[in-house]
Amino acid sequence: MEEKDPTQTPEDEYEKICYICRRPESKAGAMIQMPGNMNLCHDCMQKAFDAITKGGMDLSQIQNMPYMNLNLSDFANLNLPNTEIPQKKRIRKKAAKTAEPAFDIKDIPAPHKIKSSLDEYVIGQDQAKKVISVAVYNHYKRIFYKDSSVEAEDGIKIEKSNILMIGPTGSGKTYLVKTLARLLDVPLAIADATALTEAGYIGDDIESVVSKLLAAADNDVEKAERGIIFIDEIDKIAKKKNTNTRDVSGESVQQELLKLLEGSVVEVPVGSNQKNALTPMATVNTDNILFICGGAFPDLENIIKERLNKTSSIGFKAELKDRYDDDPNILSHVINKDLRTFGMIPEFLGRLPVVVTLQKLTTSMLVEILRRPKNAIVKQYKKLLALDEVKLVFEDEALEWIAQEAQERETGARALRAIMEEFMLDIMFEVPKDPGIGTVVITRNYLEKKGGPRIEMRG
Ligand code: ADP
Repeated sequence: MEEKDPTQTPEDEYEKICYICRRPESKAGAMIQMPGNMNLCHDCMQKAFDAITKGGMDLSQIQNMPYMNLNLSDFANLNLPNTEIPQKKRIRKKAAKTAEPAFDIKDIPAPHKIKSSLDEYVIGQDQAKKVISVAVYNHYKRIFYKDSSVEAEDGIKIEKSNILMIGPTGSGKTYLVKTLARLLDVPLAIADATALTEAGYIGDDIESVVSKLLAAADNDVEKAERGIIFIDEIDKIAKKKNTNTRDVSGESVQQELLKLLEGSVVEVPVGSNQKNALTPMATVNTDNILFICGGAFPDLENIIKERLNKTSSIGFKAELKDRYDDDPNILSHVINKDLRTFGMIPEFLGRLPVVVTLQKLTTSMLVEILRRPKNAIVKQYKKLLALDEVKLVFEDEALEWIAQEAQERETGARALRAIMEEFMLDIMFEVPKDPGIGTVVITRNYLEKKGGPRIEMRG
């Protein structure tokens, strides 16, 4: 039988609460225990110190901090009833999750299985799904291989396969990564490259992306070290052209990202995005973290076309000039040189060996996105109305109209939900008024504002 820990008192079942801001430790992070059973969160502690260092103000004047002007060691001898949190306001700690088994190669699904799971959610982008499935499979295989003793025996080192994802806005880059992380059950952090700046400048430090991942992994370092970091808008940190000032948010950020991408040990604050003397730090090794950088890379298409046209305009290929102008899949011809012309530095590209391109979604793909994925928008609305026992039907022509409308907005699949919301609002408002309504058919005429939806009564 398991022995009970004698130090485990019922008190341990409750969360500590900050004496000043009254937030529990699950919200405010680890507490600093003060004499007299008083707990303070790091934020309040920092504020108190800031107040002292900045203005030398009289802390006894601060509301809710009645004891701060006393010698803290006095508290040990005092019995202060106020520092006790009333029983009914206490928050019981969440039960600790049972330890998950460590990642095992046997648990990593084969690439075709990863891809078929992605197929259930992500429409089209077949090549991208295939490349990513293989890259992810190899990535986790590499981790296993590195942890085992095999590497030491044969001396072959498998290199890291971080991914660069290029595709227009709303083509599913973020969605693909999110789905992947969920399927693999690994923590995911999504960061925006535009917020990052060289250390010491206004903006987020590069290492903040690791902090985010640690938070996504519930501060479990080991779990975070097997996670995925997605850095979006990576094209925005391209080298600035014709600039005389220091490029703190462009080339310098690429430079600083190098060490993270290739694997290094970083110290990051736990439960906060600020480093200060009071925040506990954790050491995270980024060697096993999969980095995926994504961006729309506007203008890259022209760079590729220009290069392709240049090669084909030499000699007998000359008649092929301009044939790439209408190629919807022009991005798939990208080579390293094009990305360098765009403004990415060679060392940075070298650390993202897997390049994935996503296609601009076609109208028929948008129709599929509306109705086919597991949590398709159409399925969600049908379910909502089914709860009122009303059947919702979309005519094919209506779905096409929505897709065409979205296509015009040039934001890919992102526009679909917004368009849907625009007309579904009226349906969701009106239909529950009449319990006799059994079926609502959304017609193209209704969407074109030439008529109403077709209503069929019950019975
Ligand atoms: P971006 O490429 O700009 O990162 P997102 O991945 O954020 O685009 O796409 C926005 C939304 O559009 C997603 O949340 C998802 O619902 C939908 N979406 C985009 N592309 C696809 C796709 N290929 N299949 C299914 N849904 C998609």
